[in-house]
Amino acid sequence: MAKNRPLTTRYPSRREFFAAAGGMSLALAARAAGQQAARPPERPNILVIISDQLAQRAVGAYGDRWASTPNIDSLAAGGVRFSRSYTNCPLCQPSRASFWTGRLPHETGVDSNGLNYPVPIIPLSMPTLGAVFSAAGYETVNFGKQHDAGALRGFRLVEPEEVELEAPEAWPVNNDSRQDPAAARKCVEFLKGPHQKPFLAVASLNNPHNICGWVGHNVGVHRDLPVPGELPPLPDNFEIDDLASRPLPIQYLCCSHRRLQQAAKWSETNYRHYLAAYYHYLEMADTLVGEILQALYSTPQGENTLVVFFADHGDSMASHRMVTKQVSFYEETSRVPFILAGPGVGGRGRLVGEPLVSLLDLLPTLCDYAGLAVPGGLQGTSLLPWVRGDNPGKAPEYVAGEWQTEWGYTVSPGRMIRTDRYKYTRYLEGDGEELYDLASDPGEKRNLAPEQSYAAALAGHRDLLQEHLQKTADPFFSLEVKADRRWRSHEPGYWNHEGLSAPEAAWEEEEKNR
Ligand code: ZN
Repeated sequence: MAKNRPLTTRYPSRREFFAAAGGMSLALAARAAGQQAARPPERPNILVIISDQLAQRAVGAYGDRWASTPNIDSLAAGGVRFSRSYTNCPLCQPSRASFWTGRLPHETGVDSNGLNYPVPIIPLSMPTLGAVFSAAGYETVNFGKQHDAGALRGFRLVEPEEVELEAPEAWPVNNDSRQDPAAARKCVEFLKGPHQKPFLAVASLNNPHNICGWVGHNVGVHRDLPVPGELPPLPDNFEIDDLASRPLPIQYLCCSHRRLQQAAKWSETNYRHYLAAYYHYLEMADTLVGEILQALYSTPQGENTLVVFFADHGDSMASHRMVTKQVSFYEETSRVPFILAGPGVGGRGRLVGEPLVSLLDLLPTLCDYAGLAVPGGLQGTSLLPWVRGDNPGKAPEYVAGEWQTEWGYTVSPGRMIRTDRYKYTRYLEGDGEELYDLASDPGEKRNLAPEQSYAAALAGHRDLLQEHLQKTADPFFSLEVKADRRWRSHEPGYWNHEGLSAPEAAWEEEEKNR
């Protein structure tokens, strides 16, 4: 269970981090941390560990007091963690297709999870991370979650398997949790085995994604949930006071998101149950991260391996009364951890706050690190200068995110532009816009788009979006909206949503027919 750490604004020292590290021994963690002084070897190994649905702010190393993430924290304490790092789409498949190719969802064409909104398979002509490294003589292998629309091309795919797990009543498990231990075990076997070539291995964990299933288990108000320990508090951006000023797809998010329909009648205590469950599933992922790192650092190749940890997208974590992820680009769903440790990484426990980072940067960064040519035509930037701690070049002016649809029942195209100080969003449905001053309003509690005194900032961001659309040949303004207006007619507020909206009813039908 997540422990309530003492309130501190100070970043813990390495010693404190290692003392808190449960899964990794002090000696191993110190060994991992000690490697940053070495130069990157000629042919370094790379181990990528992915968590699914992990908000940056839920990680201890990023300051969360409720998280129990000693192993991820230890990794961060031995390397660098980027602060302003964003997904390019807060949804599994589009995000994954993007970071494996270094291309935005409108470029890959993979802009949904499929089902009623089929997406193409990544074409052979589009370079992928696995194909680039495989062609360069690397052994490339992916353990666990895929959901990639073919973007894992070039990797040997080790299919996910399920293991039986006992679960406390408050935190039931589904296939998300049941697959992770098998993926971790197979990755551990691989890491311990002999290697003829340098490797690029991916350990792709589902958790804390099991939180989606948890919401489905707890539809409507529920009492007496046997959650052990103290409940986490609600975030200070739990309420939305200016819902009427938000874009229509946000005002009526409940109508297009079955998880939010399931949570519509929750009490405040239920939202706190949700947070406790979220931290629980996160701790399950963290424990497996520890087992994988333990295995890596118990072998000689551990010293020659860059470890990269990130998440495909985040989770709403009860911010704005939202659960899981859908439509919005708020910090909780869009901002993800991004941590690197290993040879050539400069600094221990260093927080890199300056550059705006997106997951499009993964591919150029790893190519650069391994001395491979970066494929042309990519929007991302190599983060290697910041990773090394060198004098970095010019940081990108902005990073971008996209939303289209989850399964195709409601299609509400949106774009997000995050600049140094602001976040700007634009939705086609109802021409909705948002502008947040993240320097003064990190919880995104006040939409500045309607405010006259921010007209100049708003105009600047509109121009930037136009430039971005042009530069990336993004047809955003000609995309179609598909939203059933009957479901966007109840009193504002997610708690006023009654019954099953069209997408929810269709889902139930699909589930029955499957
Ligand atoms: Zn609704």
